[in-house]
Amino acid sequence: MEKNITVIKGDGIGPEIVTQAQKVLDKVAEKFGHKFNYTDILMGGCSIDACGVPLTDEAVATAKAADAVLLGAIGGNTSTSPWYKLAPELRPEAGLLKIRKELGLFANLRPAYLFEQLKSACPLNSEIIGSGFDMMIMRELTGGLYFGARKTETVGGVETATDTLTYSEIEIERIARKGFDIAMKRRKKVTSVDKANVLDSSRLWRKIVNKVAQEYPEVELEHMLVDNCAMQLVKDPAQFDVILTENMFGDILSDEAAMVTGSIGMLSSASLNDTKFGLYEPSHGSAPDIAGTDKANPIATVLSAAMMLRYSFDLDKEADAVENAVKKVLADGFRTVDIMSEGMKQVGCEEMGSLICERI
Ligand code: NAD
Repeated sequence: MEKNITVIKGDGIGPEIVTQAQKVLDKVAEKFGHKFNYTDILMGGCSIDACGVPLTDEAVATAKAADAVLLGAIGGNTSTSPWYKLAPELRPEAGLLKIRKELGLFANLRPAYLFEQLKSACPLNSEIIGSGFDMMIMRELTGGLYFGARKTETVGGVETATDTLTYSEIEIERIARKGFDIAMKRRKKVTSVDKANVLDSSRLWRKIVNKVAQEYPEVELEHMLVDNCAMQLVKDPAQFDVILTENMFGDILSDEAAMVTGSIGMLSSASLNDTKFGLYEPSHGSAPDIAGTDKANPIATVLSAAMMLRYSFDLDKEADAVENAVKKVLADGFRTVDIMSEGMKQVGCEEMGSLICERI
């Protein structure tokens, strides 16, 4: 198989971690007989410095022409970097918002997986952790409260602010279908999270999710109220396979799920549109505090590349090989500094990438 990948190394640790993920992809290509072609584009602070804007239209066109996009991270130190003295639409993050919009990325996928070897980093007690957990949060990314009309006005002499939460059945149906598709590649369970006891948008959400579920008779569907879900994530995280939810609930729940894994350098993510196209990136930021020191953990980016193999290219066997190589490296006792613990062998970003490649 031959695929074209647009690469955005970005700022801070971005170039270091993406280089390791590409090294892993090249190893997969060599081992399984594929060809991955890379085209670099600039986004974020490096694009501001070179082109005066965080993302050029030419860069967007390059990304659109690819089969998938691999992103490191963008942005700098928000207190000291000159990028944050610019108008909001010229700052690094505006590039991220622009590319998501231009590529129509409405579905955000964030796995929360507890690596056996990193159990000690999990803040939950061992009875709750049990034999671990492995869930995927599917968050709607372009609708809901964050995109609805808003205003602040004075009503009867009192300052009053209004935000609106709108979802159409089309928006719900397409994200629900993505959620069920992902569940079919996993343990075939969807927990749809809403606030249907209060919100009209949630009642429509529930109705449409039930309708889509009929197309997936193999998938078990349950509905859960968002407040209960927030509790269940720390009470019994192993019960979840795919959590399907709207934008704001997903924003909050995905951070909660990430924190129960305990290690930010391990968390991958993907943003998908209604084709096989996706943008794959670690959940963490550009870590300017450790940029250029070879201290960054590349595993979140490597696991994001594995998601690309699985969800954009349907290369499940290859994705398994990458994920198993990561598990093996951890089992062999290698750690970057952020996940270091007593008795383990500390390695840098580049060595971690090589150790993963050796195990593919
Ligand atoms: P951050 O995630 O970059 O860093 C938080 C802490 O975690 C830091 O101490 C950092 O050293 C550490 N860390 C993060 N990733 C690591 C890794 N792979 N290995 C080892 N340690 C790691 O968050 P922040 O400091 O709040 O933000 C820094 C910059 O990143 C800001 O400009 C922010 O806007 C940007 N950001 C970008 C994205 C993105 O590109 N999608 C996401 C979040 C934040």
